[in-house]
Amino acid sequence: MEVQRHAGRARRTPRRALVTGGAGFVGSHLCEYLLAEGVEVVCVDDLSTGAVENTAAMAADPRFTLVRADVSEGLPVTGPFDLVAHLASPASPLDYLRLPVETLRVGSAGTLHALELARAHGARFLLASTSEVYGDPQVHPQPEDYWGHVNPVGPRSVYDEAKRFAEAATTAYRTRHGVDTGIVRIFNTYGPRMRAHDGRVIPTFVSQALVGEPLTVAGDGSQTRSFCHVDDTVAGLWAMARCAHPGPINIGGANEMTVAELADRVIRLTGSRSRIRHVPLPQDDPRVRRPDTTLAREVLGWRPSVEVDAGLATVVEWFARRAQAVA
Ligand code: NAD
Ligand code: UDP
Repeated sequence: MEVQRHAGRARRTPRRALVTGGAGFVGSHLCEYLLAEGVEVVCVDDLSTGAVENTAAMAADPRFTLVRADVSEGLPVTGPFDLVAHLASPASPLDYLRLPVETLRVGSAGTLHALELARAHGARFLLASTSEVYGDPQVHPQPEDYWGHVNPVGPRSVYDEAKRFAEAATTAYRTRHGVDTGIVRIFNTYGPRMRAHDGRVIPTFVSQALVGEPLTVAGDGSQTRSFCHVDDTVAGLWAMARCAHPGPINIGGANEMTVAELADRVIRLTGSRSRIRHVPLPQDDPRVRRPDTTLAREVLGWRPSVEVDAGLATVVEWFARRAQAVA
């Protein structure tokens, strides 16, 4: 890795990266970002929740390779790599409730395979962890030193505990094997390439609003989330990939809002005549969520830059274009 000093922080530019989950929503944006920065990319994905279509814009680039494989079974790839970014995992509640054992396996066995690969190549290892490690938080906003409030036998535990295991494994490889690891805790990220029916709130609301269906607000809609556009999230991952900090570091939006406010905003932005339909609140749905991003600012010089309305407009445009394409 080439080492530079920038604003007092070590900056190392990787040359060849392995991205697990690179055909997914965040992963495909990360692959594109890496290619644009001059990094050769090998993406390993089993396409369980991702799609080849997400990588279509990169297919013609000789520096991009897509390998279809299950990371939980192993990584059938050839080095060298100086960055291993481990993003493979179902991420939407609908997906991980449908794939509970697979989610636990990719967070455990999959993470160990990715860590071994990073160790073998002396690569920087980047773990895409999640705000879900904080569970239904009792500290608000959530700083990285908060240990979280997770129900280990609740429905969300397959995801939350898999990621908590992945963080523990990553830490153990750092202390036991000296692997250069970095843990990023990503908060709710949104943007183009989310699937209309993946169950996450922004693609659900936008696709409902565009066809004039009622927006399905869970519970009374007073629960909060802080949303971060994928362009900002990927910039945060890139900053973390190039430094030597072990993390965990929160990457997330500053704009905490209730789900009811989000629904109103989507209706306003789309000019939709949709109404609101209240549906039951899922079990263990976190009441609040907002990252403390002090560390990201201080260590990475990172802060989100995409305003919510502008960010939501990219999702509206994405779904509107897809609807036109199938019409
Ligand atoms: P996604 O479902 O769109 O992408 C996940 C990708 O991983 C998919 O392409 C899927 O096919 C692949 N995958 C799953 N299991 C695999 C396996 N065993 N082997 C190989 N590939 C496998 O989800 P996303 O939103 O892009 O999330 C990507 C990563 O970021 C996940 O690790 C997720 O936990 C993390 N994250 C995302 C968010 C968010 O808001 N999007 C928030 C926090 C953390
Ligand atoms: N949600 C909602 N309607 C939907 C989908 C989700 O009100 O159609 C709510 C969900 O209950 C949660 C919030 O929106 O309170 C964010 O849900 P999402 O699945 O996007 O993310 P997560 O719960 O993992 O933060």
